[in-house]
Amino acid sequence: MNSIASLHATLHLAGVYRRPGVLHNREGRLPEKERLFFDILQFEQETGMRKIGFVGLGIMGQPMCLNLVKAGFDVTVFNRTAARLDRVVAAGARAAGSPAEVAQQSEITITMVSDTPDVDAVILGEQGVVEGAQSGSVVVDMSTISPSVTQEIGDRLKQGGVDMLDAPVSGGDTGAINGTLAIMVGGEKSIFQRCLPVFQAMGKSVTYVGGRGMGQTTKLCNQILVSVTNMAVCEAMLFAQKSGLDPGIMVEATQGGAAGSWQLSNLGPKMVAADFAPGFMVDLQQKDLRLVIEAGRQMNLPMPALRLVHQMYAGCQAHGEGREGTQALFKSFQRLAGEGA
Ligand code: NAP
Repeated sequence: MNSIASLHATLHLAGVYRRPGVLHNREGRLPEKERLFFDILQFEQETGMRKIGFVGLGIMGQPMCLNLVKAGFDVTVFNRTAARLDRVVAAGARAAGSPAEVAQQSEITITMVSDTPDVDAVILGEQGVVEGAQSGSVVVDMSTISPSVTQEIGDRLKQGGVDMLDAPVSGGDTGAINGTLAIMVGGEKSIFQRCLPVFQAMGKSVTYVGGRGMGQTTKLCNQILVSVTNMAVCEAMLFAQKSGLDPGIMVEATQGGAAGSWQLSNLGPKMVAADFAPGFMVDLQQKDLRLVIEAGRQMNLPMPALRLVHQMYAGCQAHGEGREGTQALFKSFQRLAGEGA
């Protein structure tokens, strides 16, 4: 039996049939979770791919990896700091001793580490993914890094017959935990289509944005939007506070209107509560803004708002707040206004 026939046989046994583009059972259209399960089943049958590797189990990587395990993929993991492996191994993933070993056992290897040199190290460095990846397999980098270095890493992998997608994400740690990330994918379209069910297990909005590097370019646009918006949130919070208006009530009153944004609804209440624990760290935001500034400089593009917020975050770093969440930008604004912070 060929793979499609065997898929149909499996679906038939499960009481599931297809109407154009939609999966049904006798009760009607299948709920989201069951459809995802059958999408994954179809993906396995059509591509033979179910073994996923995951390198980098930080704030984002760990919950993303847990969602892959929950969705039923066979997952092998590596993290530099071994203690971070415990939770995913307890959930059913298998630990490997290096990124090379992960890639050896995987059809798709995902990397989710910090910065451009870190992705370079885990993919091309000693015991890196390139040493274990089989020809025909795919590497998906979901970190936020330089679009141009992404091109170079992809070229190097291609020499060994390995395809690469860049698939950075937005949605923060809550999006990673809830499997609702926005995922922006660059690379060959046919490879994107093959990997789609893997992305769907981690994200809600998955968009193919163009050739290799375009995922990272889209993510840098995303970072311009979030950081400049965050600056507006800080300014409005301080304005409310100085005017004797409760900033929490200001957030409540404005978030449902034209001023509403993820930054306002998620970071505004944290600023009010002086909760500066990281979802997304200032240091990582600065890394992303540096990438935007470098790319903008190459295009001779003036970016006054972006450069200003980069300076305000530098104020946070100078005060030892680099490992706090991006809502710590509020403290930089408070200091500028002579408020104690
Ligand atoms: P994080 O909590 O600091 O985790 C970073 C992970 O990368 C850790 O597992 C770390 O290993 C690993 N790592 C870093 N450098 C490494 C190296 N040279 N070799 C091997 N492993 C290395 O960071 P995160 O918040 O998960 O962010 C990961 C990526 O997602 C970043 O590119 C970030 O910009 C992006 N991102 C983050 C968010 C967010 O809200 N946090 C949102 C969207 C995108 P150890 O455990 O050993 O340190």
